[in-house]
Amino acid sequence: MLVIPIAKATKKLRERFGASLEPRDDRGSLLLEGTVPSWDAKIEAGWAAARFGYHGVVNDLMVPGVCDEALEQPPLRDGALEGAYFDVAIVGGGVIGAALARELARWELSVLVLEKEYDLAVHTSGRNDGMIHDGFAASPGTKKAAYNVRGNRLWEPLCRELGIEFKRPGSLVIFRGRTSAIAYPLMVARAKENAVDGWEYWSRARLRAEEPNVHPDQHGAFFLPSAGVLSPYKATIALAENAAANGVRFSFDTCLLSMGVEGGRVASLRTNRGEFRAGVVVNAAGNWADVVAGMAGDRFFSLHQRCGTELILDINTGATQRHIMSMPSLLQVRSKTKGGGLVLTPEGNVLAGPTARERPGREDYSTSAAELRELERHLKINTKLSLSQVISYFAGVRPCSYEEDFIIEKSRRVANLVHAAGIQSPGLASAPAIAADLAAMVVDIAAG
Ligand SMILES: Cc1cc2nc3c(=O)[nH]c(=O)nc-3n(C[C@H](O)[C@H](O)[C@H](O)COP(=O)(O)OP(=O)(O)OC[C@H]3O[C@@H](n4cnc5c(N)ncnc54)[C@H](O)[C@@H]3O)c2cc1C
Repeated sequence: MLVIPIAKATKKLRERFGASLEPRDDRGSLLLEGTVPSWDAKIEAGWAAARFGYHGVVNDLMVPGVCDEALEQPPLRDGALEGAYFDVAIVGGGVIGAALARELARWELSVLVLEKEYDLAVHTSGRNDGMIHDGFAASPGTKKAAYNVRGNRLWEPLCRELGIEFKRPGSLVIFRGRTSAIAYPLMVARAKENAVDGWEYWSRARLRAEEPNVHPDQHGAFFLPSAGVLSPYKATIALAENAAANGVRFSFDTCLLSMGVEGGRVASLRTNRGEFRAGVVVNAAGNWADVVAGMAGDRFFSLHQRCGTELILDINTGATQRHIMSMPSLLQVRSKTKGGGLVLTPEGNVLAGPTARERPGREDYSTSAAELRELERHLKINTKLSLSQVISYFAGVRPCSYEEDFIIEKSRRVANLVHAAGIQSPGLASAPAIAADLAAMVVDIAAG
């Protein structure tokens, strides 16, 4: 992408967000400083800055009343890692860290996964709807689109190897109202561009026959047979157990606090359980990945948090529909997310959601009555569903870059650092493919 000169970028950003904005070219990435009146304005400014072609946007804009969050340390203090050396240290025990650990277990490398929590998948990897997306929804040309389609193909055989359940019910994007089916040719074009594995047009009658409980105002559907589902936390744990069985070490309650960089390389990692060294460091720290990058002096991106709330319906509700279903409105076309719908769990529940709300809070899982009401509209897709079948609800937080794409690359500034950041949806679906590429980068650095 063409890089817009900083003077021109500054003029455009100030015109829109006020004269207090101080954009700077920081070694090729765009750093935003100054003050904006609201959180929404901060996020909008970040998105606008991402269109200027720089290598990442660091958004340090201040918002009155919103403070920087501090990384909370686990209470444990011991010297379990003091003086140790590992060929590879992976920061983060989510699905990305676990999948990478399993990939690296194939190599003659000593590998450590550091996780600040007491277990795996405590954050985003345990707080999502477990859908192995088909790859249709991601914007063409993005890393999200490419990794999603590759990951979708890898999950089914992987689940067989890991001994966990994987189902492929397929996904229906239902046309609402008489005119919405005119979008079909555009949908086909996008599915082709993303190399999605198959699609079909379903007429109104076909949809009614396959899904008798579907909303009466349906006008057929775009069917994507490759969409699947699995349990995201079982998958993360199974990946990690497989890695551990093959020699990878996991250290829980272990928070990376700082890194010592010498001669352009990470020389030491300081944790609450001691300081150690590693040949290669992988940043798979989810919503904290920008903070971890900063520890190595490589903060070329900021993450913003997009919270999503989901409803969990009774285990019997899965018997009332056979496919994953969504019924997007035309207004959602420009939305940053897929808009949500009804997803099936492997166990037989229906999940309704997720919502998508920008708000500060890397680990803020609070929900609101307004969000729960917002999700009620998804229940209407299936006439057999109602709020009385909701047994629980939860929220998760998507770590998003301002480019709204994954950051999967070797650091440009620190020779032995690799980033897997901004892994928002479809990060779960993409995980096996992301892990394969990360492993290749790690092995390349370790060999050099
Ligand atoms: C509501 C919702 C629904 C979603 N639905 C889907 C879906 O259906 N399909 C799909 O493909 N994707 C979905 N996603 C996205 C998917 O969940 C994420 O892309 C994926 O889980 C990200 O995994 P991760 O390993 O990068 O991050 P995480 O799971 O957040 O793991 C990062 C880990 O790093 C640890 N960590 C951070 N800092 C440190 C430190 N300093 N020291 C030690 N440890 C540290 C954290 O404690 C955390 O456990 C959804 C997301 C949300 C929020």
